[in-house]
This record gives sequence, structure tokens and C-alpha cells, in this order.
Amino acid sequence: MNSMKKVLVTGGAGFIGSHTVVELVAAGFEPIIIDNLCNSDISMLDGIEAITEKNIPFFNIDCTDLDAMMDLFQHHGPFLGVIHFAAFKAVGESVAKPLAYYHNNINSTRVVLECMAHFGVKNLVFSSSCTVYGQPKENPVSEKTAWMSASSPYGYTKQVCERMIADTSLGSNLSSVLLRYFNPIGAHPSGLIGELPLGVPENLIPYITQTAAGLRSHLTIFGSDYNTPDGTCIRDYIHVVDLAKAHVAALSWLEKQSPICEVFNLGSGNGNSVKEVIDTFQEVNNMPVNVVAGARRPGDVEQIFASADKAKEILNWGCELTLADALKDAWTWQLKLQE
Ligand code: UDP
Repeated sequence: MNSMKKVLVTGGAGFIGSHTVVELVAAGFEPIIIDNLCNSDISMLDGIEAITEKNIPFFNIDCTDLDAMMDLFQHHGPFLGVIHFAAFKAVGESVAKPLAYYHNNINSTRVVLECMAHFGVKNLVFSSSCTVYGQPKENPVSEKTAWMSASSPYGYTKQVCERMIADTSLGSNLSSVLLRYFNPIGAHPSGLIGELPLGVPENLIPYITQTAAGLRSHLTIFGSDYNTPDGTCIRDYIHVVDLAKAHVAALSWLEKQSPICEVFNLGSGNGNSVKEVIDTFQEVNNMPVNVVAGARRPGDVEQIFASADKAKEILNWGCELTLADALKDAWTWQLKLQE
């Protein structure tokens, strides 16, 4: 194995991680997955291997475990870079369990940085989020948009981790890209990998697909009295395959840079309301979804969508897939899960 093509992917069995591993292989990189499977399933590896026709090394490691991480870097490196996904990711859950979020998200990033520094690994791609912006004063948000206070513990952990990486970059050899995801949805078009929420889904799309499939009696719209055209929250939904490709573009770009810390928004540039997403899902899949109006969810911002011009300009990356593509692929994946 050409060691300088080895890329450590933390949280590589998760939703975005698994799709990124597929795109890394397609681009000639050699991913190594670590995941503690707390919010993912080992079966995702079968899907990855079926798509890539490669055996991908996997280690069940918790990223907050410094000794285990040091051991991994020692015995399985050297790595060209690290793509750090491993984190808790649900806004609503973070309001209910803030300490779990502070512990997991912040410590895992600190441990990754410590291991990278110790073993001289230069390139880091970090999984950040548009939640760092809080509720912005204006949309679309660009990377220069000022951060408002984070509206959830989850968003705050992403602010802290970004700051921690930027601070570490100063005066060191670290080169990092902070990728601020908007709302990743959909699944691989093969139907072999996708989102695998354990228990009751927190996010909109798996809740829609499970309701359409009859696994949930109804979908609750969290708030219909927002100051938006139809009263429901607006987000920027991005197909997970487009998002995965952005990680490859970011890593390839980082390889050619001197030490740097750069941030990119990854979104489609379109804002869609919760109602629009539900309507599009019903239309493209010809499946009804039983919907009820409910109260606002604590921690939600009213509306946010991206300007992704910087990623286009510097990484030469942009979305190729639509909301309708993503909702079709999400439904195909749901059907596959029930086979
Ligand atoms: N949402 C909803 N019902 C649900 C789940 C989510 O109305 O069962 C709304 C949520 O309030 C937000 C949007 O869907 O406005 C996207 O939520 P999600 O949790 O998918 O992503 P977030 O933007 O919170 O990261």
C-alpha cells in the first residue's frame, strides 16, 4: 500500500463518512475507517465494500480514547490526512444531553489533533456545520458571515472545535479545511449505503421515509408559525454524494497547500421549507406522508441557506444532484432497509 495515499476516516461507518469512503476509493485514496458504532452499524461496511469492490480496513475505536488513537496512528500510519467525522450530530438531542455532546465532540477533536501533531500528520478535513452561524441576520450565509450565538449545544461544540483547529494551525504544520455542511440528505444511488438512524430518527428525511413506510404513524412539523413564506423552517438540503465528493476535493486541494486553515460552506445555495421538502418527497415518490403540525423544536433556527461560491471557486466543487434526486434516493434506501 502506498502509505501516502492512506487517509484516516473517523466516523467512517456513519452517514456522510461511508459515502466519503466510497468517493475516496474512487479517487485513488486508501481509506482506513475507525468508528465506535455508537450511532452507526457495522453492516455499512458491507455496503461500502460492495460498491468499491475493496476491503476497507476497519477498527472499532472511540476517538476520545487517546491511548487507542495513538496506538492506531503508530501501527497503521503514516496517514496523508485525517477526515474527522466522528461526533454526535443531532441538534434536538444536544439540547437534552449537552454534556454528552461536549464530551464526545470536543474531546474527540482534541485527541485527533494531539495524534496528528505527535505523528506529524499534516492534513485535516473537519466535519463542521452551518449551525456555527446560529440564526444569521441575512441569508445566504457566506464564510465571512459573523457567527451569532449558537442556538444549541451541538452548534456550540462545532464552534469550539473550529476554534480549536484554527488555534492549533497557528504556528504549526497543520493544514486544515473546515467544511460547514448545510443539511446532508439522500443516499447512495446504488441503494447499498444510506442513513441509518438508530431508534427514533431526529432528522427530517429519515422521519419522512419511515412515516411513508408506515413505521411511524405521522410526521410532526416542528413549528408552522415561523417568519417564512409558508411558516415552516428553511434549510439548505444537499445530496450526501455531492457532499462526499467535496471531502475528496478538499483533501486533494490541501495536499498542495502550505500550512493553512480554510473554511468552506457546503450547500446547494437553495433554501427549502419543511413543507416544500415533504411536498417534493410525496411528488417524486408518489407516496403520501401523514403530517401533523406541532410545536417549535428547541434549538432550531428559523432559516439558513448557503452561499457556496467559495467552494466552487477554490475547490472547483458544486452540487450536481437536486433535492428531488436526494428524496428519491432516500426512499430507495428506506425500501432497501425493509427488504
Ligand atoms: N423537522 C420537523 N420534523 C421532524 C424533524 C425535523 O419538522 O420530525 C424540521 C426541523 O425543525 C428543521 C428541519 O426539519 O426545521 C430540518 O431538521 P433536521 O433535524 O433534519 O436538521 P437540522 O437543520 O436540525 O440540522
